[in-house]
Amino acid sequence: MAWPTSRGSSAAGAPLPARTTLTDLRARPVTELPGVGPRIEAALGALGVATLADMISHYPSRHEDLSNVKRISELRVGERATVVGTVVGTRPVGRPVRGRSPGFSAQLYDGTGYLPVTVWGRGWLLNQLLPEVRVVVSGEVQSRYGIQLVAKSIEVVDDPAGEDGPHSGRFVPVYPVNKGIQARRMRTLIHRALDEAGRVLDPLPAELLARHGLPNLHDAIHEVHFPTDRPRLKAAMRRLVFHELFLIQTGLAARKARLDRTEVGGRHPGDGSLLNPFLRSLPFGLTPAQERVISEVLDDMRLEKPMRRLLQGDVGSGKTVVAVAALLTAVEAGGQGAIMAPTEVLAEQHYLSISAALAELPIEVVLLTGSQTAAERRAALEKIEGGEAHVVVGTHALIQRGVEFRDLSLVVVDEQHRFGVGQRTVFREKGTTPDTLVMTATPIPRTLSLTLYGDLEVSVIDELPPGRKPVETRVVDPAGGRAEAYEEVRRELEEGRQAYVICPLVEESEALEDVRAAEELHEELAGEVFPDRRVGLLHGRMRAQEKREVMASFRAGEIEVLVATVVVEVGVDVANASAIVIEGAERFGLSQLHQLRGRVCRGTHPPRCFLVGDPKTEDSGRRLEALEEHQDGFKLSEVDLAIRGEGTLFGSRQSGMPDLKVAKLLRDIDVLVEARREAFALVADDPTLKRPDHRPLRREIRELLGSNVEWLFRE
Ligand code: ADP
Ligand code: MG
Repeated sequence: MAWPTSRGSSAAGAPLPARTTLTDLRARPVTELPGVGPRIEAALGALGVATLADMISHYPSRHEDLSNVKRISELRVGERATVVGTVVGTRPVGRPVRGRSPGFSAQLYDGTGYLPVTVWGRGWLLNQLLPEVRVVVSGEVQSRYGIQLVAKSIEVVDDPAGEDGPHSGRFVPVYPVNKGIQARRMRTLIHRALDEAGRVLDPLPAELLARHGLPNLHDAIHEVHFPTDRPRLKAAMRRLVFHELFLIQTGLAARKARLDRTEVGGRHPGDGSLLNPFLRSLPFGLTPAQERVISEVLDDMRLEKPMRRLLQGDVGSGKTVVAVAALLTAVEAGGQGAIMAPTEVLAEQHYLSISAALAELPIEVVLLTGSQTAAERRAALEKIEGGEAHVVVGTHALIQRGVEFRDLSLVVVDEQHRFGVGQRTVFREKGTTPDTLVMTATPIPRTLSLTLYGDLEVSVIDELPPGRKPVETRVVDPAGGRAEAYEEVRRELEEGRQAYVICPLVEESEALEDVRAAEELHEELAGEVFPDRRVGLLHGRMRAQEKREVMASFRAGEIEVLVATVVVEVGVDVANASAIVIEGAERFGLSQLHQLRGRVCRGTHPPRCFLVGDPKTEDSGRRLEALEEHQDGFKLSEVDLAIRGEGTLFGSRQSGMPDLKVAKLLRDIDVLVEARREAFALVADDPTLKRPDHRPLRREIRELLGSNVEWLFRE
């Protein structure tokens, strides 16, 4: 194996190439590389590669392992195999569509025999697959007039420059490429970029790497591009994953340290004068998980340091009680508490249930939503500003301009995943460093919550109230099983229960199309399926007063079947509802379906859920099956993560953090836990990373997280 620079582990005495930092490399455009003109620059740009730093961190998506290749003469029908050979010729195959063939066949020769290889799609490869070009193909060996191979992948490995080039190693890196840049060119360019870059200095402390047995950054980058062997490749991958997670975790740890240092809030030591009577009045006992979480919250509130806590608990686990306990504690200490919900339906429900629960207490609960009349709004605002309102319940209306609190000392954000970072911040700014409790039922696996909420303390309600039955969930085919599903719903109604029927999602946001679909479904159910039952309709375009009336009569049991759009997705709580039919189930996301199903997990009667759907893709099929199989939201969100991939979940809207490039949270949980522990330890030791040996790290985090983290490292 040649090119010594890429094996540049710094054996004592060996001359080292020029030293450089990632920062330096970020300042050097790809056009510095020989062979990169405007056309290639544009093609690289489309892949997000603009600088030498981007270039060397454009990691392969996989490697072709040439040590496992088979000789053509040894191939057996039915096996999967990798073959290396030279191209003899190519021809189109299949019936052309609009003048273009759907695939091509390439004849390969490897010294032991000839092999026809069929490739579907990828027609743009044809102008590379010229006679004598060496390729590696893998795929399935089939029998068709003799044997042939149907290619899953085909890569050019030939290097006209000779034996030692970047295409000749045992592992051939396969890069994400596009039409403008061919695989071979990409390999050549990356090889050149690595040479150009010289010795890349490591921003992570050497002592830390040694403790975890991780290679330094320079070696890891080289190894990942052009591996020597499998164990070293694995170690290099681990290093890059650690690198990415460690930087993010250090940023989070620094943010938390900064807040802990600078934020002073009020102490809110409750005396129990409101909380105790409230808890005594509950018609049920708290679950141990609720008790634990409430005491975690109260402990936080007692401190001067403002609480920043995330409460995670599956749908129906009883988070509202915890919120009310916190609100009452804030009021006991003389302040105001506010809770914000993402929908009007939910805000109204909270308002009704909280005011009912607190009816005996000397407390005023006030509602603020966008659909109130001018007079209602004025009255509410006056009470909020004057301090007569102790507990304020509302929607986004709470964070609008003109809403002034007298002394807001606690903010609670319900269903926090439906709000952006910015909205939570504005909410907090309505008070002076108030305590903050954000709640979510969207089950975020532990991995993700560690990362997303790295600067929040996390409390988890990990058990449901006693007596809850699993929801029997069935996927039914719209043609065959639908009528039967409604028969079963009818049986529930006959026992005095109620049901939801959820309309298929027509548009992303609730548009006129959805309203029409909802009205049609309502008509069908009221007229044909349940002509003898009271069927109601609820959708987002109804006037607030209408919505309120519909929800009130559903709660009162007057409406027996509620046809609704996703307006009821989160939070809605009617314990007597025991069945839910979700029409067009294949169009909903997994966590949305889990939330919707959660509408019927609230009583003690065995609930039923029918997913009417005709999954057209493999993914939607897997989603529906997962719901049949699992009840647990944590499990489901892992499945969801596995199906959807992770890139978008980690979006900056939620977290303010960059997307992950190398790490996969599910796969890399152990690395995440290590990286997190190390990051928090390092920051505890040196909160502003001002020690000379931490400076490269600080610079790297700044560049990664952008200028808005500047304040993190101020004393
Ligand atoms: P979520 O966590 O989804 O917000 P809620 O707070 O709406 O759940 O609670 C769901 C239902 O469970 C409500 O009707 C609530 O009154 C009830 N509940 C909450 N805690 C308990 C408990 N410890 N025992 C029995 N029922 C409870
Ligand atoms: Mg809730």
